[in-house]
Amino acid sequence: MNIYNTFSRSIEEFHPISPPHVGMYTCGMTVYDYAHIGHGRKYVGDDIIRRTLVRFGYKVTHVQNVTDVGHLSSDADEGEDKLEKGAKKIGKTVWEVAEFFTNDFYHAMDQLNILRPHIVCKATDHISEQISLIERLFKNGHAYDTPEAVYFDVTTFPRYETLFGQSLEEKKQAVREEVQTGSHKRNPQDFALWFKRVGRFANHAMHWDSPWGDGFPGWHIECSAMSMKYLGESFDIHTGGIDHIPIHHPNEIAQSEGATGKQFVKYWMHHAFLMVDGQKMSKSLGNFCRIADVIERGIDPLTLRYFYLTAHYRKPLNFTWEAIRGAENALHELRRYMKNIQETADRHERDQLSEEKLKKIDDFRTRFDAVLANDFNTPQALSIVWETAKSNIPPQDKADLLLDFDTVLGLKLDAFSDKKNTDEPIPEEIIRLLEERQTLRKQGKFQDADAIREEITQRGYNIIDTTEGSKVTKRK
Ligand code: AMP
Ligand code: ZN
Repeated sequence: MNIYNTFSRSIEEFHPISPPHVGMYTCGMTVYDYAHIGHGRKYVGDDIIRRTLVRFGYKVTHVQNVTDVGHLSSDADEGEDKLEKGAKKIGKTVWEVAEFFTNDFYHAMDQLNILRPHIVCKATDHISEQISLIERLFKNGHAYDTPEAVYFDVTTFPRYETLFGQSLEEKKQAVREEVQTGSHKRNPQDFALWFKRVGRFANHAMHWDSPWGDGFPGWHIECSAMSMKYLGESFDIHTGGIDHIPIHHPNEIAQSEGATGKQFVKYWMHHAFLMVDGQKMSKSLGNFCRIADVIERGIDPLTLRYFYLTAHYRKPLNFTWEAIRGAENALHELRRYMKNIQETADRHERDQLSEEKLKKIDDFRTRFDAVLANDFNTPQALSIVWETAKSNIPPQDKADLLLDFDTVLGLKLDAFSDKKNTDEPIPEEIIRLLEERQTLRKQGKFQDADAIREEITQRGYNIIDTTEGSKVTKRK
């Protein structure tokens, strides 16, 4: 199979280090706010990679971190710790915030039918591993101590300049505005391995003892420490969003290879963003929509999965409600096809297959595998699914084939439900009222929330409150 390796900026043949085993590390969430459908895109992308590898006979070990400390507002060490900021915003402890949003994240990922990683590792559970790695970096002359932090000196790792094809000048441009004056960094691109509990971090809630004093790890070191702990010092695939190309991933490489002297990762893969009006959907921009918001509109969350698969993972994808409705219709149609195919199959004996039909079945499967093996081309995979569904191969074989494809696509093609709105969509103003009611309920303003419920009811809609959120349905 062929994979686009961001490191070499080219398509490469995939040869894992110890076949059939594949070690795969996927940078996880910073758990200070809700997971949104932009995250959904990235993690469905990872899920497709994993399921495809398994389809092709590889034995995948999938590791994912949970960032619950040390990720500052900017990836380049500036600003406040995101967790501390989140805690202040909602009046909880950092630990409560981390637990709440970690649960929210994995719940959302389950709704998208994403397989749980084999190992989920929290940064705060791996402080000693991070400290040991920093000690190795000191030994190898890559780290230095200052009054505010321990830093990695990028000039001691000459390749840093050109990692991922970016020059140091380009990286400087990327971080220039974020470089804080007055720090003891030797070079602006040096990055923190350990922050001390002094100055702006004097009251930092999460902190541990270390050879360099009380403090907490920088963000990047957790990924090096945990990926190498669980997958070895060299492993096969590392993924992230494209925002990790300029800073986070070069830093991971510098730290890991600086400590071990070995190649850290063989294949680097990066997912393009889910966009809204030309901008990245993101927690910090506040332009995000949660998976629960989609469910609230009566839409099956796997609609999102279908929507993501319509674009190649390296191409940006634009979010609009129209596009989601389009994906909803497509998935519904596909499931209806599947239901009809299965019903017809149940009524008939399995056909004797002619040479021609056998070849056709084979052909569909070969083409499906080929497009996935070609850097995970999901849009083409979907079009083969449609072709198969509409073809004249016998229903039993068609059903088998579609379900076989679905082991990678994860769309639950056999989950046809009449409940899907074949009815008209819920009007925007009803959705808006529902959202207003949710907000009021969260604020504890139950009387006002009830008044809105009444208004929604009077307009001919019922509200159903579930653990997944609230939904409205049109009263028949
Ligand atoms: P964060 O919690 O912000 O660190 O994000 C976790 C992962 O989700 C990172 O790999 C990000 O690149 C990725 N991500 C965040 N927003 C989006 C988006 N709008 N589209 C695709 N991936 C995203
Ligand atoms: Zn990472």
